[in-house]
Amino acid sequence: MDQTVFVIMKVNGTYGGEEMMDEVLDIIAKFTRSDFKVRGRVSGRRDEADAIITGLNALGEELESRSFYLLENEKRINEIMDTLLQYTLMDFSKKIPVSEKGDELDAIIVGLNTLSEELESNMSQLKESEAALQKKTVELARSNRELEQFAYVASHDLQEPLRMVSSFLQLLEKHLGSNLDRDAKEYIGFAVDGSLRMKDMINDLLTYSRILSGNAKFENTDIGELLADVKDNLKESISESKVTIGYETMPTLFVDRIKMTRLFQNLVGNAIKFRSKDRPAEIHIKCEQLPETYLFSVRDNGIGIKREYYGKIFLIFQRLNSKNEYPGTGIGLAECQKIAELHMGKIWLESEEGKGSVFYFTVPKYLR
Ligand code: ADP
Repeated sequence: MDQTVFVIMKVNGTYGGEEMMDEVLDIIAKFTRSDFKVRGRVSGRRDEADAIITGLNALGEELESRSFYLLENEKRINEIMDTLLQYTLMDFSKKIPVSEKGDELDAIIVGLNTLSEELESNMSQLKESEAALQKKTVELARSNRELEQFAYVASHDLQEPLRMVSSFLQLLEKHLGSNLDRDAKEYIGFAVDGSLRMKDMINDLLTYSRILSGNAKFENTDIGELLADVKDNLKESISESKVTIGYETMPTLFVDRIKMTRLFQNLVGNAIKFRSKDRPAEIHIKCEQLPETYLFSVRDNGIGIKREYYGKIFLIFQRLNSKNEYPGTGIGLAECQKIAELHMGKIWLESEEGKGSVFYFTVPKYLR
């Protein structure tokens, strides 16, 4: 600044050129407003004033080309920013033209274009596999529905012929009773037993398929009240087995009350049924609040289960003990699993043979 003032003064002093002075000031003023197009007139006298104007003109040219370059770069940077913004919206289609400058910005642009091509192809692969997955899910849901429908229809329709078989067997026994020898009576007895057992299985299958296909009715349910109902439903076996059942304060959850009752009833029923003969049966039901879920547990001090059977017992009709010792069809835990899944939860167990078992299941908190 000082130097500029000095030069201006010198121009003014030496040549007294007011006009020259105005021109120089005008050029400088325009430069400060980023207008670098202005050029001063060179008189041709080759004096200091001409030298200053020539210098200013050269400076103007230089600044003009630099500002053009800066503007160009600003445009390219804006384009890069826009493209990055598109990427955050998962749109990788935009490609930025590469200039002939071959500068650092071009290197960035080339990198971005390559990245976008890669992401674009990954996205299209992802979309393809998503569509395939969606198709498979729909197919699976359809085949599940068909299977559920089949289980329902089969179990429903099998009831009638089975009823006929068992009642005619019983009639046969009644009519021919005195004429039948011991073996024949025993065979008829086996056949009647078998058909009664089949009847239980068909009934359980029917209930199971109703759980699968029936609409869920979610409502706010006081789990404490629900457990009181469970105890009431099982009161005969509770008093017969002299089992003690304890539980603490329970939450109120948004669940399918009937199905959740069934889940608890199956677990408590099993804890009673598979009690140990060596000690009084004790069952404890607990609810723990975890960050994302409610964790329920039903603990017993019964006969326990070997680790190798942990998976098997959740399958339909799978049992570990003889039907004479412990009645049942082996569908209860399969039902529990379906009900837990219906509530977006999981079910599993920990057990020690001869000491007892704990069955756990979760209900996510967002169902509240
Ligand atoms: P069910 O009770 O009709 O046999 P479940 O599906 O409820 O059928 O149970 C499957 C099998 O898992 C039972 O037959 C039994 O062998 C085992 N089981 C279930 N609960 C317990 C338990 N609390 N203690 C020991 N064994 C159990």
